Amino acid sequence: MVYEIIKCPYCRSKHIVRYGKSKSGKQKYKCCNENFHKIFQLEYQYKACEPGIEEKVIAMVTNGSGTRDTGRVLGIDKDTVTNILKKQKFSGTGEQGISRKTFGTN
Ligand SMILES: [Zn+2]
Repeated sequence: MVYEIIKCPYCRSKHIVRYGKSKSGKQKYKCCNENFHKIFQLEYQYKACEPGIEEKVIAMVTNGSGTRDTGRVLGIDKDTVTNILKKQKFSGTGEQGISRKTFGTN
């Protein structure tokens, strides 16, 4: 059983309650920590727009995690992981390439 920690993406409060489903069937949540009760969907919480997420993805994949595991741990879709990796690979200019790190021999 995976225990997922749900945090408010606005204030990082863990005081969250479920708040029905969106039209697309995604679970929605409400933050109870603020006067204005923010409503959000978990899927939005850790999306690739989060600062540093790309670095985390690359670090995990470099350390041998699969895209699915990486996505699950970071709370993003495995397709998002794949996209980030593709973007890194094809963004071209320089030392950011993951393959070099992955296969470095020491
Ligand atoms: Zn909040």
